[in-house]
Amino acid sequence: MFPAKLSLAHLPTPLVHYDALDTLVGAEVWVKRDDMTAGPEAGNKIRKLEYLLAAAQIEHASTVITCGGEQSNHARATALLARRLGLRAILVLRTHDGAAPQKPWTGNLLLSALSGAELRFITPAAYQTRDTLLQQTRAELARSGERAYAIPEGGSNGLGALGYVDAMAEVRAQLDAGATGSREPFDVVVHACGSGGTAAGVVIGAALHDVAREVLAIAVCDDSAYFERVIEHILAEADQLTHSSLPRAPLRVLDAYKGPAYAVPSEAQAHFIVRVARETGLIVDPVYTGKALFGLSQLTPKPKRALFLHTGGLPGLLAEAARFAAYL
Ligand SMILES: *Cc1c(COP(=O)(O)O)cnc(C)c1O
Repeated sequence: MFPAKLSLAHLPTPLVHYDALDTLVGAEVWVKRDDMTAGPEAGNKIRKLEYLLAAAQIEHASTVITCGGEQSNHARATALLARRLGLRAILVLRTHDGAAPQKPWTGNLLLSALSGAELRFITPAAYQTRDTLLQQTRAELARSGERAYAIPEGGSNGLGALGYVDAMAEVRAQLDAGATGSREPFDVVVHACGSGGTAAGVVIGAALHDVAREVLAIAVCDDSAYFERVIEHILAEADQLTHSSLPRAPLRVLDAYKGPAYAVPSEAQAHFIVRVARETGLIVDPVYTGKALFGLSQLTPKPKRALFLHTGGLPGLLAEAARFAAYL
């Protein structure tokens, strides 16, 4: 039995095929449009937050605390959804110098600021101890009589991951309803991996609901060994939480497509993002989905029929006008 969850996302998200994308990628690709889970709260994090914010409410929290990079999609989704539920949000955000960004606030940071969330900026070194910082912030609020619920980076723990188990049930229902013309499972599910929660949920859900034979998580930071460890930990949490031994589809984490640095695309990746937009009308972002779709296009051998999870990230792209100017 899965724990309680809220209904916050606009579901089911479309499962879409683009002829021109097949040509570009070199495989039959079905795009699960989880960039359409909502309006400005959209992306993959809302599925995790349906569980996490339900837990916050069950614990009678008045504040949620979470963390991420300066342009964190997760922090932005948390801030907006917290306000929808009447909760306060505190976002602990990593910037290069630990100070509030001096340039005009755009993308996710603008949306988070608009939500009225309290923004606390920290250095990359301090961010290494983010879990401790979240707990310290929670304790600090408790001393002034405020109950806070801490959500880890990316909403990636056993509870949040259940959102992606449910997403795979949603895809199974779409396959059964004939959305792709075949009830057969996909050869592979491909998605961007940044904190491991999506991968863990998809690994369980793909097996539980016979959605794909394999999961391919494309790392956008760190490396394969790191994510294998992190994902294993989240999977163990999910088992514990559900008092079960959930099934697992085979997982491969690929770290060859993370580009020059986190949130920085290679020249080839930036060109690819522009080509995808021009040839299909589909927008992928330079931090996550662009790197993952690029990775799929580079695989040898190619899968025959792939499910690509479009996990969102549009606000992050809109914060990168300067980077893309050279490619337009
Ligand atoms: C967070 C995020 C991911 C990665 O999901 P994780 O569960 O953190 O691995 C992928 N794409 C987008 C757009 C994201 O915001």
